[in-house]
Amino acid sequence: MTDKPTTSTPSSPAAPGAPATPEAPAAPGFGSGGFSFAIDFSGDAGAGAGAGVALGQAAPISAPGGPSDGADGHDGSVSKVVIVGSGPAGLTAAIYAARANLEPLVLAGVEPGGQLMITSEVENFPGFPDGIQGPELMARFRAQAERFGTRIVDVDVERVDFSERPFRLWARGVEYRAESVIIATGASAMWLGLESETRLRGRGVSACATCDGFFFRDREVAVVGGGDTALEEANFLTRFASKVHLLHRRDTFRASKIMLDRASANEKIQIHTNVAVEEVLGGAKVEALRLRDTITNDERVLPMEGLFVAIGHRPNTAAFAGWLAVDDKGYLVVEGHTGSQIDGVFIAGDVHDHHYRQAVTAAADGCKAAIDVEHWLEARGIARASTVTAW
Ligand code: NDP
Repeated sequence: MTDKPTTSTPSSPAAPGAPATPEAPAAPGFGSGGFSFAIDFSGDAGAGAGAGVALGQAAPISAPGGPSDGADGHDGSVSKVVIVGSGPAGLTAAIYAARANLEPLVLAGVEPGGQLMITSEVENFPGFPDGIQGPELMARFRAQAERFGTRIVDVDVERVDFSERPFRLWARGVEYRAESVIIATGASAMWLGLESETRLRGRGVSACATCDGFFFRDREVAVVGGGDTALEEANFLTRFASKVHLLHRRDTFRASKIMLDRASANEKIQIHTNVAVEEVLGGAKVEALRLRDTITNDERVLPMEGLFVAIGHRPNTAAFAGWLAVDDKGYLVVEGHTGSQIDGVFIAGDVHDHHYRQAVTAAADGCKAAIDVEHWLEARGIARASTVTAW
């Protein structure tokens, strides 16, 4: 998901078999029946969740699914469940919902796949003892969801109307209608916005120490930021790195005192205040940072092998503004297990969880949301009890 301005206008309710206008043709490589990953890596752009590697801008519709054909006796133009987002939470929800015969429709975003699409090696996702590339892992999630009949459309949801059921969602001028919705739009890591930072992402520049710290054993790395995340990442990285430079643009910290004290006491961490990263230097990988003193504007080059950007995350909630409660950090607020303030709207993954932020916890959340949706639909007679999958 990316935050995009609303460009569409509400259309009339979609005809049976919504959406009313055709989607783009399938992208190669994501069909069901085996894992052949013809991922288009050419679309690397922008920051945040889902940014980086485009899976092609087209929608791989290679399996049945999507809006109900009315077989369960309800309005055939309305999906039983629409899942917004296609990271681990959204696609796990899709796998579970599809296996429960809910024919889920995933509105995946124009840069589908979530934050793992900008992660290189993933070594902490269970089931892959030798590790797996982030984009390949997401391709497998997607193929598994499609195998059971999930329909996936790579569009950004721009706005919604949750005032009554069926809920309505608009994406690229098309109106989608759903009896229930799972929001799994994730959170985007914030980046400095440097061209060199983007170019070297995955080549020494990262926004996730938990994911990538392991690769910097006995190397010198820097963490930029002055909040709890930056200090936590710096502390974490000392398990691997020979030295960690914490770079903060001011001389006072947002971070809690205990985190700052811990970092200050750590012999491997050197704290640099009043310093801004102007450029990441290096060809094929990070070799140094060009730093600017934010008081004097003096510049210097510091040799470095890795840069971890820890300047915050932004939950992708713009499309739902005004409909759902957010906490003081802008994350959606969950009611009960996976519910929201609106009956029939469910929430999964990093869009509400700024504590764990792991692929496996997001996936677990997606599973829970799908089970909750199924029970919710069943209780209202929208999904037949007989369709319930033995989990
Ligand atoms: P914060 O918003 O707290 O801090 C972001 C930091 O990044 C600030 O120091 C800010 O600088 C800096 N920054 C922002 N933009 C830029 C930029 N363009 N260039 C350079 N520096 C920049 O985000 P966090 O992710 O650290 O924390 C988010 C929330 O999560 C907080 O409430 C935090 O307490 C919580 N958290 C708690 C943890 C724990 O308890 N273990 C662990 C991690 C997070 P400046 O100060 O100058 O604005």
